[in-house]
Parts: sequence; structure tokens; C-alpha cells
Amino acid sequence: MNREPRVGFVSLGCPKALVDSERILTQLRAEGYRIAPTYPEADLVVVNTCGFIDTAVAESLDAIGEALAENGKVIVTGCLGAKGNTVRDLHPSVLAVTGPHACQEVMAAIHAHLPRPHDPLLDLLPPQGVKLTPRHYAYLKIAEGCNHRCTFCIIPQLRGDLVSRPIGEVLREAENLVQAGVRELLIVSQDTSAYGVDLRYRTGFWNGRPLKTHLTPLAAALGELGAWVRLHYVYPYPHVDELIPLMAEGRVLPYLDVPLQHASPPVLKAMKRPVNADDALARIRRWREICPDLTLRSTFIVGFPGETEADFERLLEFLAAAELDRVGCFTYSPVEGAAANALPDPVPEEVKQERQARLMALQAKISAGRLRRRIGRIVQVLVDARDEETGTIARSSADAPEIDGVVYIEDGAALPVGEFAKARIVDADEHDLYARIDSGKAPKRKSSRSGGMRAKS
Ligand code: SF4
Repeated sequence: MNREPRVGFVSLGCPKALVDSERILTQLRAEGYRIAPTYPEADLVVVNTCGFIDTAVAESLDAIGEALAENGKVIVTGCLGAKGNTVRDLHPSVLAVTGPHACQEVMAAIHAHLPRPHDPLLDLLPPQGVKLTPRHYAYLKIAEGCNHRCTFCIIPQLRGDLVSRPIGEVLREAENLVQAGVRELLIVSQDTSAYGVDLRYRTGFWNGRPLKTHLTPLAAALGELGAWVRLHYVYPYPHVDELIPLMAEGRVLPYLDVPLQHASPPVLKAMKRPVNADDALARIRRWREICPDLTLRSTFIVGFPGETEADFERLLEFLAAAELDRVGCFTYSPVEGAAANALPDPVPEEVKQERQARLMALQAKISAGRLRRRIGRIVQVLVDARDEETGTIARSSADAPEIDGVVYIEDGAALPVGEFAKARIVDADEHDLYARIDSGKAPKRKSSRSGGMRAKS
């Protein structure tokens, strides 16, 4: 072959899977491979799959089938790869199958079927690695796996127990990202607040400075880099309280994505979620006293086996009391291999759908009320995109990319994409805010978006 070998890449699944894809792509580029934009241009194709719920499994199997039909040489990685023979049973001609978080195994399979080029150093690699997100924000994975055993989830089976990355390594990656132009770091893992537990919070080093492998010092150090730091999948352990003053001081974004899943004690017990809704409510109230600008996001599952109307109403009461800013709601669907499949009293599908609709209707009113309180304020925004139809689209501290609302800026045509700006909020609907950089009248509303939903943890 007298041109560089070319690899096509299909990346499916959650932000944790996206980070795995970015690692493999970075390694490919470091070794001198090219990334092919289409199937026919690729010498082989890697498909990073998701295996979380049935629709994700079907999507992943379809993507593998398409890559086989269009290209023929396919390596499969990701969560679906860890699920027994699912991939090989349907697609026996794939070249190799690995589980998630398996960059080295994927590279070994690629080397076996598409030898690496002779002089990889000729290819210049950006210091932040290859990213699939826009240049101005990036996901930063701080740990892999999970020590919980929630009965609806098979992540621990797929990814194993918690393994935290060394704090110095995480901070060096964050520094590289910020130096490369990243303005917002999105901190992800299966259970972000458990960071360091497996390492017994041992002391690591960053630029010669000793730091405990623990979420609080990590968040504080990330806050020194000059980028927005947004925390996702923060299970409400008591030490999460330590993060709130950092938010009140503006060192990390006043935003917490806290996966609660339910509020009724019997359902939480059946889910094996060791959270108590009354404690969570008390904690939320305390957090808001310390940091009134705090935006809280959570996800919930309705129609879990055994959920009664009374359990569901308990959840609605919790939502009314907690007044969360952003909420995603899933109807329960059994995942192959999950312990919850053996639970009695399944909830009929139409009841699940009806409960989901009731929950989202209540939350829409709560969200609209929370957003209305921001009208008149001048806020810092990060400009994401400019679109002919919708104008300039930005996000405030309250809006995580892809899952939350946005800030439409009608007179923002001159604002550079990927940079911070200040804007005055002039209107709000259930999901989005409307702003101007001058202080003029309210612009027209653009759309009615559905509430963002992101899976589990
Ligand atoms: S839902 Fe989240 S916390 Fe529970 S087992 Fe799965 S990954 Fe762990």
C-alpha cells in the first residue's frame, strides 16, 4: 500500500463511550493512520457500540451491519462487545470484538488486519488528541466502572468496578485541552462523586504539587485552569456538600447533574439505590442557600417493577418540592442481564407512558418557572453555533451541551463561536432562554424543544 492506511470510525453511546472513541482515534493518528470520512474510503471500520438499553443494542447491531455491507472489514468495540456472543451471533464476519475501555485491544486488532504505517512521527497530532466534540468543549473521563449494583443497570458487569484515573494524569489532560482552546470541561464517569475511593484517596502530583485523589481537590484544581468546569453524574454523597462553596465562589460552574432515579423508598430499595429522598431534599435546600444560582439536573425512571400509583405520586411530590431545573424521565425497560428482570409486578406499558407524560408535564411547569426567574439578568454565555434560521446559539452555566436548553441571542451575529460573551436574558420558555447583547426588547421565540434526556448513573 503506498498511501497511509485509513480507518473509518462509527461512535455510538454515552459520553463515556465517546471518550473511549477519542482515545482510539488519538492513538490511530499518533501511529500515522488516517481517519476515513466514508465507508468506501476506509480500509477497515471500527464501530464503538452501546449496549445499555434494547434500542441502543438494536442501533449498534444495525450500525455493524451497515459497516459490513458498505466496507466489509469491521472491528467492534464498546459495551455491546462485552455482552456475550450478541455481536458474533448476528454478524459472524466481524474481524474482532472487544468490550468497552479497550483501546489497546482495539489497536492490536487494527494492527493485525491493517499494519501500521512506517513513520508515524511524520503525522502531527494535536496535543489535546482527536476530539469528536466541537473545539470549545470536551468530555473529561476521570474514572471507569462502578461499585454500585443498581438492579436496572448492567454497567458494572460490562465495565467492572470503579477504577479512578490518577489525579495528575487527569489534570494534565485538562491542561492540554484548555491550551488547545477548550473553554468548557465536562467531567464524566459512571459515579463521579466516588472518584478516588478505589485508590483510598491516595496523594498524587500535578506540576509537583501534592493533591489527594478525591473529587473536591480535583474540582478545585480544574477550576484554576480558566475554563468552565461542569460536573456530571454526581451521586449525592455527603462530601458533595464540599463542592457547593467552590460553585458559590465561581471556581466551578454552579451546576450539578445528580442522578436520583426515584423518590419513593420501596422503589429506591428495589433499585438498590442507597439514597433517601428526604435527605436529598434537605441537602438540595442547603445547597441552594449556599449557592442560590445552582442549577440541578436529574434523571428518573418511571414504571419500575412494583411501582404503585402511590410510589409515583411520592415521586411527583418530591419533584414539586425539589424544583429541579432540568429533568430527564425514562420509562423502565428491561436490560438483558439486569437483576431487575426477576422482580415481580411489571408495570403495563400504557401506565409507564402515562406516568412519564404526567411527570414531564409537571416538570415543564417547574422548569418554566425556574427559567423565568432569570429574565432581566446579565449572564456569561459560551457561544456554540450560528445558524441562519435560529441566529446565534449559546449556553449559560445552567445548560450542558446536548441535554439541556440553550440561550438564543438574536443580535449575536458578531459574537465569535467558541468564545465567552455576556448577554441579557429577555425571555424564557419551558426549556430555553432568549437574550440580547444590547438591552433591547424581547426577541421572537424560536422553538419548543423537548427536555433533554441522558441515560442513567
Ligand atoms: S446506574 Fe450508575 S450508579 Fe447504578 S450501577 Fe449503573 S453505573 Fe453504577
